[in-house]
Amino acid sequence: MSATLIDGAALAREIREDCASQAKELTAAGTRPGLAVILVGDDPASSVYVKHKVTDCEQVGIHSVLKRLPADTPEATLLSLVRQLNDDPTIHGILVQLPLPSQISDERVIATITPRKDVDGFHVSNAGALMTGQPGFAPCTPFGVMKMLASAGISPAGKHAVVVGRSNIVGKPQTMLLLQADATVTICHSKTVDLASYTRRADILVVAAGRADIVTADMVKPGAAVIDVGMNRNAQGKLCGDVDFEGVSKVAGWISPVPGGVGPMTRAMLLVNTLTATRAQSSD
Ligand code: NDP
Repeated sequence: MSATLIDGAALAREIREDCASQAKELTAAGTRPGLAVILVGDDPASSVYVKHKVTDCEQVGIHSVLKRLPADTPEATLLSLVRQLNDDPTIHGILVQLPLPSQISDERVIATITPRKDVDGFHVSNAGALMTGQPGFAPCTPFGVMKMLASAGISPAGKHAVVVGRSNIVGKPQTMLLLQADATVTICHSKTVDLASYTRRADILVVAAGRADIVTADMVKPGAAVIDVGMNRNAQGKLCGDVDFEGVSKVAGWISPVPGGVGPMTRAMLLVNTLTATRAQSSD
């Protein structure tokens, strides 16, 4: 391996320590940060994510409330819970774990969260703020990727960044954050013809397609920074990313692993956003 490892787990630990001291300061000044997490149904993966989020909060001194609702919850019940949390002064951030059961519209639920408590950064108001360069919450995963690049001393300014994936929660906000950081950005997606011809020209390559091994060594420019957002299960059931780590780490300049890369950073950035929300609301 010649690439330098971008260790998301270690960086996330540092960020959590910093969050712990910020949470302590806010609490001492009279506002204990609070995050509400809503889980509808009992999807095993979602249950694990939610458990991690609650544990992370406990570790850093953020008060967390977990609201579990049955899978057959009507949309109106969930919307009324969100409105109640919008008005709860002890709660500064609200996260509704996605995906939601089919009888509930993700869009309507996200639209009901007040933008100043939307610590996932999914509300159109926060998406619009990101698009127009105004203050708001950036979604945790792409926000975490930016921190990973910064921690490795990689400035996107003037670089060619290629983002594989155009979802509202990763690809599009990632593109906006890289653009804000003065990169020249290309977005690729499932209809892109000849993906390799784009990825080979990337100084910074962020891969968020949800397809194991979609990026192989021959698709990477020597010395590039490769950030793997993907979370997949391989044939043996093991967690793996979108990038062929073994091969690409011989060509890239920097690479992030899966697990231990973007995943822990996504969790850490939720804490950062919750503290930002707390500060903003405590000065209202
Ligand atoms: P989506 O399924 O919403 O989006 C995937 C994107 O990848 C789409 O834009 C799709 O294109 C594109 N894509 C799919 N196949 C190809 C292909 N063959 N070539 C080029 N582009 C392709 O996924 P998410 O954005 O939600 O997540 C992406 C991955 O990141 C998943 O593995 C997910 O589990 C992981 N993830 C990890 C997180 C973490 O904390 N580590 C957090 C969030 C996500 P099109 O739009 O044309 O369909």
